[in-house]
Amino acid sequence: MSKPAIPVVVVFTILPFLFSAGGAFATQTEFSVWLNTLRAEALEQGISTSTLDSALADIEPVERVIELDRRQPEFTQTFWNYIDARVTNWRIKKGRVMLKKHRRLLKQVEAQYGVPPRYLVAFWGLETNFGNNLGTFPTVASLATLAYDPRRSAFFRMQLLDALRIVDRGHVAPASMLGSWAGAMGHLQFMPATFIAYASDADNDGKKDIWDNLTDVFASGANYLSSVGWRHGELWGREVRLPSDFDWELAQLQNKKSVARWAALGVTRADRTPLPQRNDILGAIVLPQGHKGPAFLVYENFETMLHWNRSINYAITVGHLADRIIGLPTLRTGREADNRNLSREQALELQQELNAMGFNVGKPDGIIGARTRHAVRNYQKKVGLPADGHPSISILRTISEARL
Ligand code: CA
Repeated sequence: MSKPAIPVVVVFTILPFLFSAGGAFATQTEFSVWLNTLRAEALEQGISTSTLDSALADIEPVERVIELDRRQPEFTQTFWNYIDARVTNWRIKKGRVMLKKHRRLLKQVEAQYGVPPRYLVAFWGLETNFGNNLGTFPTVASLATLAYDPRRSAFFRMQLLDALRIVDRGHVAPASMLGSWAGAMGHLQFMPATFIAYASDADNDGKKDIWDNLTDVFASGANYLSSVGWRHGELWGREVRLPSDFDWELAQLQNKKSVARWAALGVTRADRTPLPQRNDILGAIVLPQGHKGPAFLVYENFETMLHWNRSINYAITVGHLADRIIGLPTLRTGREADNRNLSREQALELQQELNAMGFNVGKPDGIIGARTRHAVRNYQKKVGLPADGHPSISILRTISEARL
């Protein structure tokens, strides 16, 4: 389930709020005062005193949670480095074993929600290695830490109140409510708000148990995907080949055309066979590693997967892992792309260079987002390079040299 976005804010100015100069938590009293206001709000929302007594007893901020939350990514991982680290032989094989082992249950879930087994197994494999790594952080304490921290307090306060509601409804005992440092829980790493909205008690025992009951786990995942728009009978997308005269500007997620229209533009399957002549299915071309990397034609289900996690690399990885689990081939194209990770410093430099040339990326922060991609594309268009909008070390070198 979607992790909160990696912190953008520069960190050390905020730390003293939670830590004394010596590094230990300083303001226990302040935290207690804060916890009392939280408790009052929870009571107002109808959460019972007994739940609050048990779930909030002896709660303290978790120092490790703040450390992990402040951790900055050192680089922007390339698509290949991202997917190769995740779609491993181990995961494919284990996925096949799990698909077979739980086929009956997964088929029942598909019949009810329309989400095919391979996708649920792929999400499961990526989120928690098929349940092997649910996380050992106490959810209420972790969320209380993040809600007390001013950086994203509103978001985490809401999640914390939902976590308390989950306990109050009797789905899990506070001591068993464990998960990631950021509050994602169970086999599919649901945040509490996602649990409240989509978790399912599929075996009808009165508990939505996403920690220890696969019937509930798979139904909850499928209910979520189906609720946010999963289309039964459609794929997530597929690897394709683009013609040599392809207009790179067409490769944008929001630029949708029918599959038949893409075929007419010269797009084929990766094995060079024709795409199906479908006018009723819309897709977009996505180039996660620029025009020299692999190309994907992604359908509406791809955008549904982006609800789960907003990362394009993540969604392609889920789709490809699902394909591999059912025996489809490995990716065929694009290995020749520049595969050097862009360090945070290099990303910052790229943003500064673009700004200096009048391609506005906003305030440089070393994190590649839509504005940076847009600026790269505009730069490429201006100088006659393939306008794929892909920030890479090659483009940084080109720009730096041009500016010397
Ligand atoms: Ca249940």
